[in-house]
Amino acid sequence: MAKPIILTVDDEPQVLNAVERDLRRHYRGDYRIVKATSGVEALDAVRELKRRNAPVALFLADQRMPVMSGTEFLTEARKLYPEARKVLLTAYADTEAAIDSINSIGLDFYLMKPWDPPEQVLYPALDDLLSDWQATVPLPYEGIRVAGTLWSPSCHRAKDFLARNRIPYQWLDIEKDAEAAELAAAASPKRHRLPVVFFPDGDVLVEPDNLSLANKCGLQTQAAEPFYDVIIVGAGPAGLGAAVYGASEGLRTLMIDKEATGGQAGTSSRIENYLGFPKGLSGADLARRATAQAQRLGAEILTAQEVTGVRVEDPYRFVTLSDGTELACRALVLATGVTVRKLDVPGVHALTGAGIYYGAALTEAAYYRGEQVFVVGGANSAGQGAMFFSRYASKVTMLVRGSSLERSMSQYLIDQIEAMENIEVRVLTEVVEAIGEDRLEAVTIVDKDTGLPETLPAAAMFLFIGAVPHSGLVAGVVERNNAGFVVTGSDLTHNGHRPKNWKLKRDPYFLETSVPGIFAAGDIRHGSVRRVASAVGQGAIAISLIHQYLKTV
Ligand SMILES: Cc1cc2nc3c(=O)[nH]c(=O)nc-3n(C[C@H](O)[C@H](O)[C@H](O)COP(=O)(O)OP(=O)(O)OC[C@H]3O[C@@H](n4cnc5c(N)ncnc54)[C@H](O)[C@@H]3O)c2cc1C
Repeated sequence: MAKPIILTVDDEPQVLNAVERDLRRHYRGDYRIVKATSGVEALDAVRELKRRNAPVALFLADQRMPVMSGTEFLTEARKLYPEARKVLLTAYADTEAAIDSINSIGLDFYLMKPWDPPEQVLYPALDDLLSDWQATVPLPYEGIRVAGTLWSPSCHRAKDFLARNRIPYQWLDIEKDAEAAELAAAASPKRHRLPVVFFPDGDVLVEPDNLSLANKCGLQTQAAEPFYDVIIVGAGPAGLGAAVYGASEGLRTLMIDKEATGGQAGTSSRIENYLGFPKGLSGADLARRATAQAQRLGAEILTAQEVTGVRVEDPYRFVTLSDGTELACRALVLATGVTVRKLDVPGVHALTGAGIYYGAALTEAAYYRGEQVFVVGGANSAGQGAMFFSRYASKVTMLVRGSSLERSMSQYLIDQIEAMENIEVRVLTEVVEAIGEDRLEAVTIVDKDTGLPETLPAAAMFLFIGAVPHSGLVAGVVERNNAGFVVTGSDLTHNGHRPKNWKLKRDPYFLETSVPGIFAAGDIRHGSVRRVASAVGQGAIAISLIHQYLKTV
C-alpha cells in the first residue's frame, strides 16, 4: 500500500526546507512528504497525484506567496482532494485571511510562523488532523483504472480484454462520476477517444489496442525463440490441452492467441459438464487453471498476437504474426476455434458492444441488474447465458427461432430454465431490428406463426446463434470444407484417394490436415463435437500424433 502524502508549499526556500525537515522527522514512517516552491508548481503536482490516484492526506501551504496565495492554492487543491486536511502557514498579519479561509474553504488549521518547538506547536495539531483523515477517508484503489462510458464498444473491448486475461481493474463511468470525467478529459479532450486507462505508475493509455494493453500489463507478446518443436495457434481448450501435453512431454512449445487464453470456454459463465468438477466451474476459472498448468510445465504463451498466415517450407512450418514477426516450428497445431455467427438485421452492428453482445458477456451482466434483457438462440450456450443473466436481470426473455428448446438444448438446462420464474421462453420468434441511439433501447421481434411484429423495451440483448470458423490464416494452405472448417484425418480421403499434393506413403493421421505436420484440434475441425472436453482431448491427441510424425521427419 503506497503511503499517503503530505504536500507542503512555500516560495521561501529556507522556510520550505525547515517545514520539510520537521515533517520528515515526525511523519516519514507513515507518510510521503512532497514539497513545491510555488502554488502553481504545487497544483501541477496535485493534478499528477490525482491522475495516479495517489492518496493525499494534508496540504500545508504558506499564505504569502506571489502569483498564487496559500488560500488560492488550497481553493483549487480541494477540488481535486476534497477530503485532504488543509493547513495555512501564516504570519501575524495574515490572521484575518486565515479566519476568512475557515469559512470560505473549510480551512482545518492555521499555524503561525515560527512553529518552534514542533513537538508542541506543529505535531499535535497535525497528528490530530491526520488521524481524523485516516479514520474517515477510504484509501483509493491502487490498480489499473479504466475510464469510459458503458455504451462505448472500445471501452467494452478493453474491459473484456483485461477481464479475460484476469487482470484486475476498476471501472470509472465518466457519465456517472464527475471526478472520473475530469480525469479522462485531461487525457482525451471532448471524450473523442475512449477508454482512458490509468496505470499505477502514472502511465496513461488512450483508446489502447489489445497489444498495447497487453504490453503495459506485463503479458508476454513476443516469442523468446525464433524456433519451436510445436507452435499452437489458439489458446482455447484445444490449444491449452495441446500446450499442457506438449510441454509436459518435452517438446519446446509455444502457444499464441490473439486475445486471451480460454477461448470461447473462457467466456462461459458456467461449464457444468466438464469431467472432474461436480459443481461445474466458470470458464474463467478453467482458463486460469489450465494457463497456470501449461506455464508451469514450460509452455510459452503469447497473448494479443494474431497469426495472420501459415507457410510451409519442408521440413519446417512457419507462422506470421500481425506485427510481421515470423516464427518457425517442426509441427503446427491449429486450435483457432470459431466465433459465434453475427445477427445481420438493422441496428445490430451499430449497437454491438453498446447493449448488444455476442456470447455471455460476463463483464457486462452486473450492469443489467434489475433490467429486462433478451437472449437470442436455443442451444446450450443460450440456455447457460439465460440462467446466468437471470441472477441479475429482472426478466430474461429467450428468443428461439425453432418450435421448442427440446430440439437443441440439453434436458438438464431446460429443467433449470423452466424452474426460473424470471425467464420467459418465446419460440418461433425472430429478431428483425435493434433500436437505440447510442445504446440498445428496444428490439423488434416477429412471431413466425402470425407474422406480427412487436417492439419490446430492452436494456441488453445477448446473441448465441451459431459459429464461423477462424481458418482464414490457412486459406489455400490446408483443405477446408465449404463453411471454412478444416478437414482432417479420414475425411481427407475421397474415393480412396489421398489429398492433392500429399506425398507420404501413409494416410493422414486422425487430426492431421492435408499438409503433413499441420494438425487441427477443437471447434475449428470439420465435424467437431463442440464441447470443452472434446477440444481438450483433441489437443492432447494432437501432441501424441506429433510425436509419431516427428519420428518420420
Ligand atoms: C458461451 C459458451 C458456453 C459454452 N459452454 C459449454 C459447456 O458448458 N460445455 C461444453 O462442453 N462446451 C461449452 N461451450 C463450447 C466450448 O466452449 C467450445 O467447444 C470450446 O471452447 C472449443 O475450444 P477450441 O479450443 O477448439 O476453440 P475456442 O474456444 O474457440 O478457442 C480458439 C482460440 O483461438 C484464438 N484464435 C483464433 N484465431 C486466431 C488467430 N488467427 N491467431 C491467434 N489466435 C487465434 C481465439 O482468440 C480463441 O481464444 C460453450 C461455448 C460458449 C461460447
